[in-house]
This record gives sequence, structure tokens and C-alpha cells, in this order.
Amino acid sequence: MKLETKVRQTLKKIKLSTPKGVPSVRGDINTKGKKEKILIALSGGKDSATTAYLLKKFGYDIEGLYIDLKIGKYSEKCLEAVKKLCKNLGIKLHVYDIEKERGAGMCYLRSGVQEKKAKLRNCAICGVLKKWILNREARKLKVNKIATGHNLDDEAQTCLMNVLKGSPKLSFSSGPVTKNISDRKFIPRIKPLFYVAEKEIRKFSKQKKLSVVYNKCPCALDSYRIQVRKFLNTLPEKDKRNILKNFEKIFVKNKKRRKDKVEYCEICGEPSRNNICKMCKLMR
Ligand code: AMP
Ligand code: ZN
Repeated sequence: MKLETKVRQTLKKIKLSTPKGVPSVRGDINTKGKKEKILIALSGGKDSATTAYLLKKFGYDIEGLYIDLKIGKYSEKCLEAVKKLCKNLGIKLHVYDIEKERGAGMCYLRSGVQEKKAKLRNCAICGVLKKWILNREARKLKVNKIATGHNLDDEAQTCLMNVLKGSPKLSFSSGPVTKNISDRKFIPRIKPLFYVAEKEIRKFSKQKKLSVVYNKCPCALDSYRIQVRKFLNTLPEKDKRNILKNFEKIFVKNKKRRKDKVEYCEICGEPSRNNICKMCKLMR
């Protein structure tokens, strides 16, 4: 199946409505007037660039957000790529400058955390910060959803890592749209490439000549994820898909589970599962 068709089907599955007057994934026109604005989290990589390209092509109302983590030359190159992508696609770009907003670049902030919590991996810390920033900025920009470029490989790796670490529950709500959380301060996240393999996206982004940085982040040194990725890459794509399917089945069985309780962080006011959010716990 073509990459575009897979993404259309995913959007249909998560019932993402198109702006008024634009044909929906099924081909019918949205006449109810519901207009969803989607913020694409653009990293400069091929996955989020492909997400932006397709959602724009399908007629969605989108804007982009680049979080400038100030990881030296790498962040500069990514910013250039994102600016060019948005110019080519005609998308409004917002840039969040971490030095201006949080007082320092990601490497400095992260080493501060690791001085206290040495075990925490680079990507885990960066991931918590990025999620926090994305939700806050998306709310400020009054968008209805956030779209990220997570793909089939990313998701299968995460699920398998959770199983291997003895925390399969963490994957129960994995899927192309955030589940179990409903709160006015929480902006739902969607993953239009959830069922698309990384190598297909690479090929697609090259065919479409998207403005993209293909190098990995120099701080992505999570050896465990690299090990799991290597293992999964020895298996056929079908097996990766099955890992995700398992969790979807488990989720359906647990559907009656009550919605996760949302509190507001006592420090920053952001939605959180506990009285202090993950970001503030790290930064304390
Ligand atoms: P990663 O966590 O680097 O695997 O990235 C997963 C997804 O998060 C990407 O496809 C983007 O949608 C988003 N993302 C990652 N880094 C950034 C960034 N610096 N700015 C905005 N979005 C990002
Ligand atoms: Zn907080």
C-alpha cells in the first residue's frame, strides 16, 4: 500500500476533520464548519517534514513549531531546513528558542539534571522537555491538535523497550492519537505516520525532495534503544506491526478503564498525572 494511502487511512481512523469546505479523507465535504487547526512539531527531520507535506496536501489547516534546542551546529542546520520546508509548503513557522525561554540550551539543562539523576538518558530528558514545551506553545497558539512525526519503527521500539523493562503498561495507550486524557489544558497529539515504516518515509522524503536534515541528533546516544532498533531491523515489517497490534488489542480490552486523572502541576500549572509534572520534577 502506498505511503499516502496509509496516512489517509490513519487520519480516517482517528476521525480528523478537515477545514470547512475541504474534502475529507473519505472524499466528502465537511459542512459542519468544524475547523481544526493542527500544529506540526517540526524537528528538521524527514518524519515531521513528511507529516507536514501530507497534511498540507490533504487540505488541513496547519502551522509548524520548531523547538530550537541550541545543540550547536546541528540545531542551526535543522532550523535552516525547517525554514526552507515551511517556505516551500507555505506554512507559518513558529520558533521556540530554548535559551531565551528557559535560560540555557538543551545540553546545559540536561547536564544539570544528570548531575542529580545520573541514570537518566539524554533522549528521555529531552523528550520530557519537548512534550512540555509543545503542549504549552500549542495552547498559546490555540490549535486543536499537535502532530508529530513518530513512525512505525519508533513506536515498535518504544513498545518493545517497555516490555523488556517490565513496564508494558506504559504502552497500553500508545496509538495514532493520545487516549485516556481529556482536559482543557491538554492538547491531543496525533501521529499520522504511526503505521508507516521508517525506510518508506526516507524514500518518500527523497522522492519529494523535502528540505530535511538526515543526520541523527549528536546527543541521541541511547544505547538501549539502538540495540532494540538493531534487533527489530532484523525482522520483517509485519512483525513490527504486530507488536503495535498487540497493544491496540490490549487497549480495546481495557477500554472501560476510567480516564487517567489529570491534575495541574503545583509549580508550572501544566496538566500532569501527579501534583508535580515530569518537567518540574527534572528541573527541581
Ligand atoms: P524524536 O523524539 O527526536 O524521535 O522526534 C519525534 C518527533 O518529535 C518528531 O518527528 C517531531 O515531530 C517532534 N520533534 C522532535 N524534535 C523536535 C524539535 N526540536 N522541535 C519540534 N518538534 C520536534
Ligand atoms: Zn510543572
